[in-house]
Amino acid sequence: MTLALHGGDPVRTTRWPLWPQPASDAAQQLAEVLDSGRWSISGPYRGTDTKERTFARMFARYNEVGHCVPTASGTAGLMICLEACGVGAGDEVIVPGISWVATASTVLAVNAVPVFVDVDPDTLCMDPAAAEAAITPATKAILVVHLYSALADMDALRDLARRHDLTLIEDAAQAHGAVYRGARAGTMGRAGAFSMHHTKVLTCGEGGAAVTADPELARRMAELRADGRHQPDQPPSLNEMELVTTGTLMGSNRALSEFHAAVLIAQLGGLDRQNEQRAIRASVLEKALADEGFATQQTSEGTEQRTYFGFVIRLPEEFDSIGSAAVGAALSAELGLPVKPIYPAIPASPLYWPGSRRRFDLGADYRRRIDRTRHRLPVSERAAARHLTFHHSALLGERSDVDDIVAALGKLRDHRAELG
Ligand SMILES: *Cc1c(COP(=O)(O)O)cnc(C)c1O
Repeated sequence: MTLALHGGDPVRTTRWPLWPQPASDAAQQLAEVLDSGRWSISGPYRGTDTKERTFARMFARYNEVGHCVPTASGTAGLMICLEACGVGAGDEVIVPGISWVATASTVLAVNAVPVFVDVDPDTLCMDPAAAEAAITPATKAILVVHLYSALADMDALRDLARRHDLTLIEDAAQAHGAVYRGARAGTMGRAGAFSMHHTKVLTCGEGGAAVTADPELARRMAELRADGRHQPDQPPSLNEMELVTTGTLMGSNRALSEFHAAVLIAQLGGLDRQNEQRAIRASVLEKALADEGFATQQTSEGTEQRTYFGFVIRLPEEFDSIGSAAVGAALSAELGLPVKPIYPAIPASPLYWPGSRRRFDLGADYRRRIDRTRHRLPVSERAAARHLTFHHSALLGERSDVDDIVAALGKLRDHRAELG
């Protein structure tokens, strides 16, 4: 047998499930917007709730949280969480060493200072002890991420935030629907943000949301995302502009369009079913891989429902000399499925480079504080070299897909000398 990478027959040639998968009522929902005379929340009242408002209500109910403010992206959702919580110029925000770049770039975008801390080697989520060690008098908030399929150690992080009077904000961009001790991801801190980007488990292409239990915080979030305006409690007369001006807070336009909200209304109906399907497939795969000596990402104790944004495999030591990028490329060729190293440590990521933008040139002191080279993140830095991940949509196919993945990894192990 030759590796597919070197021209041999691949383990698998059949297709993987396509993502995104449109819900059956998505087209109908979109058609309603087209004909409604209302394509944005910033438009005239036409006698019915906007799709945006309807989705906000549905998503708040889904998460059993008081308030939801939809946004144009997960990035926008994170920014209104940070700003509504009062995080701003010069404040330090503790962020995990591994995440999508937006977790840290949004902290910069509110002129605060991301302070990277290391992750737990098994969950790859923020290590509470490392977070505690990073607290200074300038620390304002902890921005925790539930990465790929794991929930962070929220017991310890909530306790830490309480003891030090810090604001706990959740980046739940990868964890829609996950449950930790009875609470949905995103609802365990003061505020939580979600992404509805194309890749995410709930998607409309580009979109996001922020949630909170606090009505005043929700009001600030709403104004921050609609140029200082918010929806009135009672609708205006027909064909009058719906949003009201208060002049209490300057915002920006980060609003979700009616088309995107319409798609989310339809897609939300399938979220639980898909989360469950992925979790069932993942648990079978996890067991099969364990039998072959491959460890997988663990979630924190207290997780009641795990969801999968990515499935993460740890490579055994025998692959150390080859490296995750080469193993991922070989595995991708065997399976016809992109399998990649997990995110690099954020400060080492080519995507994280505040010095490339003039707007962050806020003086020598700020430049020093945001210097990428000042962080020591040994666990995060080592993680990308030994973990691979593939997209959650690959968990939505057939039971036999598990066999293909296990067979491909077994083939690579047998042929690893050819990869060196
Ligand atoms: C996707 C993602 C974001 C950003 O969301 P966008 O919708 O792409 O702006 C932030 N944090 C994490 C962890 C993400 O995965």
